[in-house]
Amino acid sequence: MNNLSSFNKFTDNLKVQDDIMPVLFIGHGSPMNGIEDNEFSKRWAAMAKEIPVPTAVLVVSAHWLSHGTLVTAMEFPKTIHDFGGFPQELFEVQYPAPGNPALADEVVSLVKRVNIGLDHDWGLDHGTWSVVRHMYPEAKIPVLQLSIDYTKPPQYHYDLAKELYSLRKKGVLIIGSGNMVHNLRMVAWDKMSEPGFGFDWALKMNDTFKQLIKGGDPWSLINYESLGRESALAIPTPEHYLPLLYSLVTVAQL
Ligand code: ZN
Repeated sequence: MNNLSSFNKFTDNLKVQDDIMPVLFIGHGSPMNGIEDNEFSKRWAAMAKEIPVPTAVLVVSAHWLSHGTLVTAMEFPKTIHDFGGFPQELFEVQYPAPGNPALADEVVSLVKRVNIGLDHDWGLDHGTWSVVRHMYPEAKIPVLQLSIDYTKPPQYHYDLAKELYSLRKKGVLIIGSGNMVHNLRMVAWDKMSEPGFGFDWALKMNDTFKQLIKGGDPWSLINYESLGRESALAIPTPEHYLPLLYSLVTVAQL
């Protein structure tokens, strides 16, 4: 699954066009990526240097599911350690990036088709900080999260992403943080030491997703349940996949 050569090629194509901030989808993988200096965290750090410095970061994390869509609106979002069974070092991580209540208000007023709620309870979960702390280690850039309304179909999330598009013209970096292939019940723990190992269905689906993304085909990606058996195995539950739909909007699709 660690096909970093094609990953590099893909991000090489991330150019800033017409002063529009790129949008990212990042497979955050294990929470341990938050503290490990590995091929993934190194790439995230490098990627941040390849794009303009954002005015703020808005993350759609697989780990914040809600009824209704919420945006974090506190001045200082707390670091949430939403996992168990990991080393103490991971629980001690703090990522003290500020929030941006004014931007949260702007998100609420920007989105017309649904009432987005202001949230003062959440913070930054590991879907956000395990990635963003490598990208912006100084924690100076404001970071907000947008929740995933788990009661809504995939089309809802894509349509919502369209309404957020104009934030990119203001230098806001939108990141979908999840995984395209995410089936913890099928993890081959006995193959962990084999670099690049992946089940056939996972490798195939990973390639299919990449082709659909590169081909600019959001419709198939929105209707992923029609992509067959491999898709059902890759996406047994949608929470890690849905952040991808926030990363697909191009100006041609608006
Ligand atoms: Zn996750």
